[in-house]
Amino acid sequence: MSKYGEFEVVGTVRRKCKRINDPNADQDGMREYSVLKCPHCRNETIEIANDNIQKQKYTVIRDHILACPSYTGERPQKRGKPASDTSEIDDLKQRMTESEVKHESTKAQLDWTNSQLDWTNSHLETVKTVVAQHQVHWGDLARVMGYEPPMEPPFLLDKCRELRRLQLTNPEGAYNEHQKNMALILEQKDMVIKEKTLMLEQKGVDFNSVVNEKNLMLQQQDTALKQQDTALKAEMQMATDYKKQLDTKDSELSKMIKEMGRLQKERDQLKAKLDALGTKKPTPGEMLRHGLEQAHKRARM
Ligand SMILES: [Zn+2]
Repeated sequence: MSKYGEFEVVGTVRRKCKRINDPNADQDGMREYSVLKCPHCRNETIEIANDNIQKQKYTVIRDHILACPSYTGERPQKRGKPASDTSEIDDLKQRMTESEVKHESTKAQLDWTNSQLDWTNSHLETVKTVVAQHQVHWGDLARVMGYEPPMEPPFLLDKCRELRRLQLTNPEGAYNEHQKNMALILEQKDMVIKEKTLMLEQKGVDFNSVVNEKNLMLQQQDTALKQQDTALKAEMQMATDYKKQLDTKDSELSKMIKEMGRLQKERDQLKAKLDALGTKKPTPGEMLRHGLEQAHKRARM
């Protein structure tokens, strides 16, 4: 509790440093301030840098009390000035100097802000170029991975993360997965080749069976022809044999005919002899005996 009342902290605010090139500024040139509330005027614009709050609190409160419109107690003496009846002009000079300093400070701050803005603008250009290049790279990456160029990077990013995760957690698995995919593709090719070979073999079998059937038919025809040939030959042989037999019979017949002719002639001669003998006709017994005697004679000749 200060002797000027309780100035409680009602909040904090992070903003640009009051001083240029403040060594306590963070990388963005910002600093955190505590906001104090005056118990007299209820003003909430009293700020103290957070890390200086203990050191500066009294001075800041004292400065506010000097100007607080609602404070009714005895005001403190101005800092660094002896209590005297300093003229209004001196006071005015002092205030003008302070104002000039403040103005310089504001100007410097504005310059600094402008330079920051320039820097930001040039960086924005760089970032735009980089983003455009990245867009091209994303497209290339998508093509390499076999995807359509994505409208948004997250799709590919997720795919890459998935791959990377698999590689890290299970490098063997990632490799195996790749191998499996390759093996699958090869297997499918093998299947296709096998099917084609089978089809070709089937066609070969069909063709062979047709050829075999034709061959069999030809063989059967051939056998039939041979059988016919054999039968014909046999028939011809039989005909030849029959002709031979006929010839033999024929010659035997001609011999018999000749023999009969001879016998007829002998009979005629015998009859003529008998006729010449006159009236006496031989009995059939005498004729038979005579014929037998003649045949016997011939057989002995
Ligand atoms: Zn006040």
